[in-house]
Amino acid sequence: MPQLVGPQLQAFLIDVLRISLWLAILTVIFVPLERLFAAHPQKIFRKGFATDLSYYFLSGLIPALLLSAPLGLLAWSVNRIMPGSFLATVAALPLWARAIAGLVVGEIGYYWGHRLSHEIPFLWRFHSIHHSAEHVDFLVNTRAHPVDLVFSRLCALAPMYMVGLGGPAGPADSIVPVLVTLIGTMWGFFIHANLRWRFGPLEWLISTPAFHHWHHTRTGPINRNYASTLPWLDRLFGTHYLPHNQWPESYGIKAKLPDSLAGQLAYPLLRDPPDSTAAPSDIQTAASMDEVPAMSAEDAERGVIG
Ligand SMILES: [Zn+2]
Ligand SMILES: [Zn+2]
Repeated sequence: MPQLVGPQLQAFLIDVLRISLWLAILTVIFVPLERLFAAHPQKIFRKGFATDLSYYFLSGLIPALLLSAPLGLLAWSVNRIMPGSFLATVAALPLWARAIAGLVVGEIGYYWGHRLSHEIPFLWRFHSIHHSAEHVDFLVNTRAHPVDLVFSRLCALAPMYMVGLGGPAGPADSIVPVLVTLIGTMWGFFIHANLRWRFGPLEWLISTPAFHHWHHTRTGPINRNYASTLPWLDRLFGTHYLPHNQWPESYGIKAKLPDSLAGQLAYPLLRDPPDSTAAPSDIQTAASMDEVPAMSAEDAERGVIG
């Protein structure tokens, strides 16, 4: 039987099929839940839906292509620099212990990468695309400029490789980074979902939609809740905000970004970055609502938190 498509095109089509299947699964899970347990009344086909759908496919196809070379180089370097006995000890740990260690070190890397994306204007240019969503639901998880996505993935994965949790010999050696990325991605869809579920006392341990929705608030306590899965890191670093029974009134940023995918992809490269929304007055407003001590306006201005 003649080969109809080349191997590279074949691999690409398989990737498209794979992420289409994932989209079907995510839709079956989240669309009914977001109707039954909505935090805010919201349409499925809300503003930005088509753009976010495009981001879904872009985000599903691009990172693996761009990350494999730097991560391979990092794993190779770590193998030469780190003592063999240390790497052997890490490799001998049971998978569950390596997965938990990977989740924690990966999340610490993610936290700081994410926080820097808010604090460094050049990085904020790209990250502001994610925050431009005016309606937050599970699909907003995928709204990210490729530069922002690759940077945040690198920040999360590099620490795992640096402590010997990612191997140099390909996917079979990289089960921990693959597992942690999969868990993180799935949890990312959950914390963006328009779901009013709260986890009670477990909320100090694991993030919820409420926790991350406050990260997207347009007004009030902004520049909080940088963690993706482990909110206690925000407590540790002084950026945690989670009132008991409140949700943000509105989402987005003050700057007006283009609506189209092409416009948003070009935006960070063509224009000045949008204004940072970290106005000290906003942070002071938050103090009266916060259940943990709020950072001071002076700290916010200095960029020193916690
Ligand atoms: Zn952010
Ligand atoms: Zn988000």
